[in-house]
Amino acid sequence: MNSVAVNADRCMYCGNCYTMCPSMPLADTEGDGIVLMAGGKVSNRISAPKFSKVVVAFIPNEQPRWKTMTDTIKRIVEAYAKGANKYERLGEWAERIGWERFFEVCELDFTHHLIDDFRDAAYYTWRQTSQFKF
Ligand code: SF4
Repeated sequence: MNSVAVNADRCMYCGNCYTMCPSMPLADTEGDGIVLMAGGKVSNRISAPKFSKVVVAFIPNEQPRWKTMTDTIKRIVEAYAKGANKYERLGEWAERIGWERFFEVCELDFTHHLIDDFRDAAYYTWRQTSQFKF
């Protein structure tokens, strides 16, 4: 079976792999979980760059196939494919239909704790963009 392994002699403990890969030996199958974030983008095209939003706060670390996670992502992608306009990115689609509706069509549990629209203190300090409109 093809796989990858950590070369322990060359590892410099940056932590990059384990935060991205829940199958690393360091991961805890009991206590660790997966967060799904959606809607972020760096591109300046059509709308300004956006932060991703947490749309699922915790999914158990179900190695090796992560059934709950893959089923959830599949629901999101299928709802997006069905509802988005041509060339519309996921975050732009969610904003057009409303994030509350996004949770409905993706069959995700919604609580107000999941959405951080950076409108509290950060509204005045971080709300900057490099997008130019002519
Ligand atoms: S990504 Fe970082 S922590 Fe992971 S194996 Fe490579 S050097 Fe080590």
